[in-house]
Amino acid sequence: MRIRDALALAQALGVARLDAQLLLAHRLGRSRAWLLAHDDDALGETDAAALRDGLRRRAAGEPLAYITCVAEFRGLALAVSPAVLIPRPETELLVEWALELQPAEAEVDVADLGTGSGAVALALQQARPRWRVTATDRSPQALAVARENAARHAPSLALAQGDWWGALVGRRFALVVSNPPYVAGDDPHLAALGHEPRAALTPEGDGLAALARIVAGAPAHLEAGGWLVLEHGHDQAEAVRACLVRSGFDATSTRSDLAGLPRCSAGCWRG
Ligand code: GLN
Repeated sequence: MRIRDALALAQALGVARLDAQLLLAHRLGRSRAWLLAHDDDALGETDAAALRDGLRRRAAGEPLAYITCVAEFRGLALAVSPAVLIPRPETELLVEWALELQPAEAEVDVADLGTGSGAVALALQQARPRWRVTATDRSPQALAVARENAARHAPSLALAQGDWWGALVGRRFALVVSNPPYVAGDDPHLAALGHEPRAALTPEGDGLAALARIVAGAPAHLEAGGWLVLEHGHDQAEAVRACLVRSGFDATSTRSDLAGLPRCSAGCWRG
């Protein structure tokens, strides 16, 4: 099989050309530009077999990131497995906002609840080496993925296992961020996300339960003047801000993602 035959096979299977090129480039350890210049090169038998398998998985709807086992988030190449959600570009908003909320040079304690692959915590720790970032997850399988990513990108990241605040008993932070499961249990778009861990996408019900638990527990885990920043569904901003206000937060506000959808809300705990 030559590279051009591989791309023809992808087309026959209904796999997008870009996805096929990314699979090939990943398998061969080459760039897409290299592939374009080597259309006539023959693939070795092992590469050809791996590519056929990858194309079939992609044709069956498996996300590319689970086939290549890597996803990119804010310039970090992260390991991913089906134990973790694939990092989404809209989550970069959560990181960018959090970076503004404490001084870059301050030695502050920061937590990321439900870290999954570690994407948010690692992006923060890389951008702010002086912050002491702790990432939590209930799932030991997810924490193993986050640990692998931390070893590669930010070895100072601390990891703790437990459900929301359960991983952080008795500790207070200057900044807490989370991208918890927030999709409603009956949201039709869950059907298209069947390869990702359901528990990372939805707390079931109306989608607000995990957000509400995080907000309710936050006053006991924030320092005076500390911030809580949460990612949520595009139609949950008002409910999340109301929840923050009921728990005694001030300065609550919402920001929109690049698609213009209200995507993160934050509040300050005055203590
Ligand atoms: N943004 C994701 C999606 O809708 C959901 C992520 C989450 O629930 N935290 O695909």
